[in-house]
Amino acid sequence: TGTLYVVATPIGNLDDLSTRAAAILGSVARIAAEDTRHSSRLLGHLGISVPMLSLHEHNEAARVAQLTAYLAAGEDIALISDAGTPLISDPGFILVRELRALDYPVVPIPGPSALITALSAAGLPTNRFRFGGFLPAKAGARKQVLEALRESEETLVFYESPHRILHTLDTLDAVMPERPVVLARELTKTFETFLSGTPAVLRERLVSDPNQARGEFVVMIEGAQPTVDTEQQEISADTLLNALLAEGVGV
Ligand code: SAM
Repeated sequence: TGTLYVVATPIGNLDDLSTRAAAILGSVARIAAEDTRHSSRLLGHLGISVPMLSLHEHNEAARVAQLTAYLAAGEDIALISDAGTPLISDPGFILVRELRALDYPVVPIPGPSALITALSAAGLPTNRFRFGGFLPAKAGARKQVLEALRESEETLVFYESPHRILHTLDTLDAVMPERPVVLARELTKTFETFLSGTPAVLRERLVSDPNQARGEFVVMIEGAQPTVDTEQQEISADTLLNALLAEGVGV
């Protein structure tokens, strides 16, 4: 059987495509791309002409049988999305799950992802984080999701589109107004910007300079401060006292 290569592609700067990714894209029999027109620009830049077929959220389930047949016939296939790492808020999960179930080889070719790129330079804790994908489009649902995460101590990370960024900052201002937030915009591109502040401060920045509201965003929110468990501390002081008394230490 052939191998499915899950290939990460640039999130803006074409120089971020790895040497290995370029070699794989040039060597496979077919490339399954989220949007073939979009990806033909990348392949053109690389001088690669390999047959492409589309694999997006509306046809993925139907494509699985077809791609499995190509692999069964011994063809290697690369899966790419419009930007970054496939399956990360992008198509591919249904295909990869099916191929794993069939015991077909699936090989990741790592590279850019907006999630990790943003976290690596934001200055927020990265030892533990929670990636929430895209927040719901509807205001009520968006608020509910954020309220459910209010006590979470991990750094929160979301993807956001330019037409909803102000709404999201409004919701954050309502749900966690004091929280430090970092917006990473246009990563790896000419107008890459990191902005930090409370939700209200950031909202003001974007409203006063509409250029700052353009492009693609990663929204990162510092986690909640850990709550000190006073009861636990009292218990341990008590336990210590008893232990000392049991040892015959005069207190
Ligand atoms: N699979 C991609 C990845 O690995 O990052 C993410 C795909 S998702 C459909 C697109 C979202 O990723 C955008 O709405 C934005 O939140 C984020 N994104 C992608 N490229 C970005 C960039 N250059 N700068 C900031 N955010 C970006």
